[in-house]
Amino acid sequence: MESNGEQIVILGAGFAALTAIKSLRKNRFNGAITVISPHSVFAYLPSTIWIPSGLRSREDLEVPLENFFTRFNVRHFQGSVTGLNSEEKRVQTDNGEVPFDRLLIASGARFIQKLPGIKEHAIIPCDGIKAGEQIRDRLAAMDGGAIAMGFAGNPNEPAAMRGGPVFEFLYGIDTLLRKQGRRDKFKLTFFSPAPEPGKRMGPNAVKGLLKEMAKRNIDTHLGHKMKGITENSVITEGGEFASELTLFMPGLTGPAWLTESGLPLSAGGFVVADKGGRIENHPNIYVAGDSGSFPGPAWLPKQAHMADLQAEAAIKNMLSDMAGRPEQHQFKVELICIVDSISTGVLVYRDMKRAIAFKCRLFHWAKLLFERLYLRSIR
Ligand SMILES: Cc1cc2nc3c(=O)[nH]c(=O)nc-3n(C[C@H](O)[C@H](O)[C@H](O)COP(=O)(O)OP(=O)(O)OC[C@H]3O[C@@H](n4cnc5c(N)ncnc54)[C@H](O)[C@@H]3O)c2cc1C
Repeated sequence: MESNGEQIVILGAGFAALTAIKSLRKNRFNGAITVISPHSVFAYLPSTIWIPSGLRSREDLEVPLENFFTRFNVRHFQGSVTGLNSEEKRVQTDNGEVPFDRLLIASGARFIQKLPGIKEHAIIPCDGIKAGEQIRDRLAAMDGGAIAMGFAGNPNEPAAMRGGPVFEFLYGIDTLLRKQGRRDKFKLTFFSPAPEPGKRMGPNAVKGLLKEMAKRNIDTHLGHKMKGITENSVITEGGEFASELTLFMPGLTGPAWLTESGLPLSAGGFVVADKGGRIENHPNIYVAGDSGSFPGPAWLPKQAHMADLQAEAAIKNMLSDMAGRPEQHQFKVELICIVDSISTGVLVYRDMKRAIAFKCRLFHWAKLLFERLYLRSIR
């Protein structure tokens, strides 16, 4: 489609951003696209669960994006977004301002780090490749002891949580210690303030996840509000338990710069949008992926798959708006993931009609295959 000289600017270079770029070119948009992100490197976050076991390393999961940007004729602007002037249509960054005609916000989410001790004494397992490396190195240095892993949500926005990867780290580390023949030297505890952690994946998934923990001799500490993390313990309103290595995934919130942006924000701090990524009273700005707060069921996941679906819908609406076509594209609500444990995997699928959880060895290989195909598509 002819661009009419309009400049499209995309914030971020993660799943939603890359899908948006592919979608723009697939829909024959031939105009200028600028991506603003701190680095022109893509990090394949779902596979960081395999860094502690040595199945993956930083080199496997980081993809320089120069080729991708050349292939899709995208200009990369290196910088971190610090603000937005929506009236003058300018994005502020730590490297100067960038003007836009249409903007897609796809710069992901942030972790709530208010819990006492979280910064000093916990590793946030979803904090990218460096977190996977820290866990790997800490495990290697331990002769035995107590390890605790857990997650919590955003109290103002229950959908803003990421629990799936914590189960994967938990089962992955259990499997690793068994393979190393030293599982008996470690006590593993899973904790969450939620009495039924993983409920968003469906009732069968919760039962299955807890059954798996019992089978693996993993203790649970559930349903108690978190009070803090110390060097050698986790403290909740329901008591304190030992932990020399604590992996804690807190609730998510939106990018910090949003608070001054004038965009409508949800209680949890995300950009409020409709099911097509459109933002009320801001006709040129769209959002996709973890940065947004979208209408949907309570279990609407913040996942790469959803980010892709949301990016596609937002781009179709952006192009319709540019062409003056009154179309309404909406993303499909769908949770799909494989909860991996190195030796096997559980496929979890949920939509508005079904909630399925199914365990099979093949799913571990399916997760590896999916990673390979995805990374090949952006190299
Ligand atoms: C360990 C782990 C396992 C996971 N497993 C799965 C899984 O199995 N299946 C699944 O579907 N999802 C999974 N996810 C979730 C998935 O990775 C996220 O939901 C997905 O990355 C969200 O995509 P996004 O594009 O919205 O944000 P991100 O992928 O987080 O991308 C955000 C981008 O914005 C950039 N950025 C950040 N701040 C700024 C700024 N101020 N200015 C400019 N750019 C900025 C970042 O550098 C990045 O390029 C997993 C996540 C983790 C951490």
